[in-house]
Amino acid sequence: MLKYDFIILGSGAAGLSLLMRMIASSHFNNKKILLIDRDIKNKNDRTWCFWENKDGFFDHIVYKKWSQLSFYGESPNAALDIHPYQYKMIRGIDFYNYCFERIKQCPNIDIKYGELKSVVHETEKITICLEEEELHCTPAIIFNSIYKPSDPSKKKIQLLQHFKGWLIETDSPYFVEEQATLMDFRVHQRYGTSFVYVLPVSDKRALVEYTLFTPQTLEPRQYDTELKDYIGRFLKLDKFTIAEQEFGIIPMTNERFHFYQSGMYYIGIAGGQTKASTGYTFQFIQKQSQHIVDSLVQNQSLSLIPTSSRRFHFYDSVLLQLLATKKLGGKEIFSRLFQRNKASRIFKFLDNETSLKEELSLISTLQTFPFLKASLQVLKP
Ligand SMILES: Cc1cc2nc3c(=O)[nH]c(=O)nc-3n(C[C@H](O)[C@H](O)[C@H](O)COP(=O)(O)OP(=O)(O)OC[C@H]3O[C@@H](n4cnc5c(N)ncnc54)[C@H](O)[C@@H]3O)c2cc1C
Repeated sequence: MLKYDFIILGSGAAGLSLLMRMIASSHFNNKKILLIDRDIKNKNDRTWCFWENKDGFFDHIVYKKWSQLSFYGESPNAALDIHPYQYKMIRGIDFYNYCFERIKQCPNIDIKYGELKSVVHETEKITICLEEEELHCTPAIIFNSIYKPSDPSKKKIQLLQHFKGWLIETDSPYFVEEQATLMDFRVHQRYGTSFVYVLPVSDKRALVEYTLFTPQTLEPRQYDTELKDYIGRFLKLDKFTIAEQEFGIIPMTNERFHFYQSGMYYIGIAGGQTKASTGYTFQFIQKQSQHIVDSLVQNQSLSLIPTSSRRFHFYDSVLLQLLATKKLGGKEIFSRLFQRNKASRIFKFLDNETSLKEELSLISTLQTFPFLKASLQVLKP
């Protein structure tokens, strides 16, 4: 029988964000921790961007940050006033390298590689079934970040945020490094809500990402066509090389996720930490990890950790309802939002941190009739 105090399933953003906070607290020095993943995390498989108005837990590995953001919607380019926020970028590879370097220095942490098949709880024993072996452990607290899409028959809205990004490079200086584009809706909307964001990481390199909020993904070549078209038409660049590429899919659903289920605590996307209306997840993972570690250190029940508020779940559902039924496109909604509100207020709202009064003032700037109709549909039993 293996003896662990904690078992973390998945060494992605959520598993590692939690583990790094455990390592940072002396409370866990004598606790045995097991980390399980099917992959060795040695690829730059994603780039996380998020806004933050203070120093963050992973600030030392932030690759780039911007104080100036632009938004292109229905009216001409708007410079966003994001103060006191900064828009930050962390590269997957820097995050993984940093975390695994720290883990290496901790004799109380073991790593096991293998495809997880199931976790079986018995009275005095937990069996973790990996593809090629079974681990028999004494009871432990399990955090699970392995996401399984839910059963489509649950009748919840299921959209996907899917995107392809190219890190492009020019021979001579071309990009204004301090100036990033948060959303550019000048691209056609034939597939549904579609936009591009542009994040210059130097004067010769920028990450250009074509993003959609729709029920289905596109053919791989369609993303490439749209990226090429955008770079030619809007960045006015015809000579560049592609240094790196990334592709991703993030679920956008109004399904309610459980924090505790079947003897495990769910974290990350699997624990509902994706903001359903935007796909942003990284900062919600940070908040959840901090809550978990604080509760463990204070010997408080994890069940007291606040789950996402019903109010924000309702707002997200209304927005998803509008997008899914195509009553209003993301271009119209986000254009109106950014035209009529300060970006810093919008960021606070999208972080689920506004007061009801602030939310009402923000919502009153949106398209009243479609939002009202979608709200009634969401409230319908
Ligand atoms: C390309 C990409 C870019 C993104 N960019 C942003 C962004 O800019 N901002 C933002 O806020 N969010 C972003 N996200 C969304 C979200 O932040 C990330 O998906 C984040 O990595 C989610 O963390 P997680 O721990 O829940 O999942 P993951 O990081 O995916 O971790 C899950 C882990 O579980 C492992 N695993 C899965 N199945 C099994 C199995 N059966 N057995 C064993 N191990 C398994 C995987 O190998 C992985 O390491 C992005 C997502 C993607 C895919």
